[in-house]
Amino acid sequence: MNATTEQRIALISVHGDPAIEIGKEEAGGQNVYVRNVGEALARLGWQVDMFTRQVSAEQETIVQHSPNCRTIRFQAGPLEFVPRDNLFVYLPEFIEKFRQFQQENGITYHLVHTNYWLSSWVGMQIKKIQGSKQVHTYHSLGAVKYNTIDNIPAIASKRLAVEKEVLETAETIVATSPQEKQHMRSLVSTKGNIDIIPCGTDIRQFGSIDREAARAKLGIAPDAKVVLYVGRFDPRKGIETVVRAVGASKLRGSENLQLIIGGGSTPGNSDGIERDRIEGIINELGMNDMTTLPGRLCQTVLPTYYAAADVCVVPSHYEPFGLVAIEAMASGTPVIASDVGGLQFTVVSEKTGILAPPRDVPAFTDAIDRILMNPEWREQLGKAARERVISKFSWDGVASQLSELYTQLLELPVVPDLVPALVSSLEKSVAQPAAQVSKE
Ligand code: UDP
Repeated sequence: MNATTEQRIALISVHGDPAIEIGKEEAGGQNVYVRNVGEALARLGWQVDMFTRQVSAEQETIVQHSPNCRTIRFQAGPLEFVPRDNLFVYLPEFIEKFRQFQQENGITYHLVHTNYWLSSWVGMQIKKIQGSKQVHTYHSLGAVKYNTIDNIPAIASKRLAVEKEVLETAETIVATSPQEKQHMRSLVSTKGNIDIIPCGTDIRQFGSIDREAARAKLGIAPDAKVVLYVGRFDPRKGIETVVRAVGASKLRGSENLQLIIGGGSTPGNSDGIERDRIEGIINELGMNDMTTLPGRLCQTVLPTYYAAADVCVVPSHYEPFGLVAIEAMASGTPVIASDVGGLQFTVVSEKTGILAPPRDVPAFTDAIDRILMNPEWREQLGKAARERVISKFSWDGVASQLSELYTQLLELPVVPDLVPALVSSLEKSVAQPAAQVSKE
């Protein structure tokens, strides 16, 4: 293996396109993670190719982000958005495209880093075909998710089986928080290697503007008390909790209390339906005058919103990591978050914000009021929040930990005897038409 191949990595993210706009249905933390990890690895000298599924004929098939970092889109299944729960049947086609791409370009990826369970299946097959090493990040665990929702999709049993298999067979699983690792061990399998490497954020971009300037830019009064939510419109994000909590605040009426809910949606789609439901609650609580819904906030305007806010609320029912929390913290804004998952790792209660039980409206109201009524404490929390992100959660720090892990893995020998035997059996399974695979 020469120096160049050693430094080559395929990041596979079938449903989370790293090159598209973030903040709408099914485009959130995973897209941000893959894109930023990719770009930061490229700065460290890696040749980074990020593979995803093309969802429209208008999309470019290759997007070059920087000289060593690009997104490559394969057509697998229809050229339209397909919800992730329906994507499994198109994965054999995706793998075939990956193999063709390698052949046409004379490249073999000795290392693949897969994201979300769908891509983990792709990675496991590539590993069987050509002996590639596999690193996997779950982004969400079926075993946790299915505990928090009522309608379990038909794909659930497949997902749970794949999530177990990848934990037991990948060279390394990257857990983004100690809490996520614990869930893997208690709910998925006691076998397999797990390293903890957190998600990151851009500490130069978030924190680049102060509160006064941010408020002037957004036309927010200097004396306003601003509560901010940022994220997708999804019932699991708990937006209802922050709306009801602000609605019950003691400061309502006496102070210039404002709630901003940032996030994109498409009318009629699942995020549009959730936005309508949230607007219904705002209406019912008589909060129209104090609430703004600016829609999707692009990554360049987001630092201004976080900096302008007094507090950012992350009321998710569950959150494997929660990028929004560290973005707000990097911006010097304290975070009130649900006491769940990765938020327990990022937010230090009473030091960088407050943790409250998920869905507990009175607890969220109390936390909001405590911070808004004590500006000095708010300042301290915000300062400590930024310091915590700088020391633990910068993309460059995350990428250098990943780079070290990849380098170690690439130095491990491939087990060549296993590979040829597996190729022929796998070629048969990959060659199956999608309809047959779906009956599994
Ligand atoms: N986001 C954005 N614009 C929006 C709403 C969200 O850019 O209007 C971004 C946000 O800044 C964060 C990501 O989407 O980087 C959401 O990631 P998180 O881990 O908080 O949640 P997920 O969407 O993965 O559930």
